[in-house]
Amino acid sequence: ATPTALMVGIGRGATLGILIKGQDALEASGVIDTIVLDKTGTLTTGDLTVTTVGLTADLTREEVLGYAASVERGSEHPVARAVEDLAAGEQVATHPITNFTTHPGQGATATVTGKQVAVGNHALVDVGDHVVAGPAVWVAVDGQVVGRLDIADRLRSTAGDAVRELHAAGLRTVLLTGDSEAAAREVAGELGIDDVRAGVLPADKAGVIAELQADGHRVAMVGDGINDAAALATADLGLAVVSGTDIALKSADIVLVREDLGVIPDAIGLARRTRRTIH
Ligand code: ADP
Ligand code: MG
Repeated sequence: ATPTALMVGIGRGATLGILIKGQDALEASGVIDTIVLDKTGTLTTGDLTVTTVGLTADLTREEVLGYAASVERGSEHPVARAVEDLAAGEQVATHPITNFTTHPGQGATATVTGKQVAVGNHALVDVGDHVVAGPAVWVAVDGQVVGRLDIADRLRSTAGDAVRELHAAGLRTVLLTGDSEAAAREVAGELGIDDVRAGVLPADKAGVIAELQADGHRVAMVGDGINDAAALATADLGLAVVSGTDIALKSADIVLVREDLGVIPDAIGLARRTRRTIH
């Protein structure tokens, strides 16, 4: 190996916003055939907004938002920010909470003014016959579903081109998300992503990577949040996007410092070229 070529590759990467952490990343980049992409915060901006508040019991909009925002103050999830923003915008009063618990990939619960409040998807809240077509976050108070919050996310403008370039580079793309099958299919369809693994709890994301590897694939994973740290570490090549937390960064082989998703195929191309120069 010629350290010079590695240094040049790393230097070139730095100017493109790509941090290559050592030679292992270069070795892995030469053999991967599958790239797994996290949805929320990676392919989408993760800047969520609440578009509709549906009332399903006899509580007012203000009461529902008050309960939901109180719980979400304890959470760091992008959904929590969206709920808090709406409540703040409508000057809804929040209450102190106790017993806050976060349920990764599902939502959060807490005690608010003596009541048990849950905010999350259907895996956390038993929604009974309140069925909706799209993905939604539900609010339950003492076990009763009191409201539905429709959440909108936006695809990053560079996501479509990035997926096309990855396909052109001969990679199979897989969308991996804790979100519902419906939400995942919508995004995969729009971007032309080959395969979907939806409803995967954060703790199970690494298992999906391991399954693909057991099927004989060499897998790259692109992720952002704390949720993705184990999956990034399990993958043959882990790529963390800029908004990544410290944990995600530590478990990644390549760190992408630009918001532009075009950096993903760029990173793989650069790593492959640098690897060829060294060998
Ligand atoms: P992704 O895998 O797409 O990054 P996550 O695993 O972080 O998504 O979350 C999956 C789903 O869990 C979200 O789409 C949302 O429905 C629900 N969820 C997670 N955290 C919260 C929260 N704090 N409040 C409400 N819903 C939540
Ligand atoms: Mg995410």
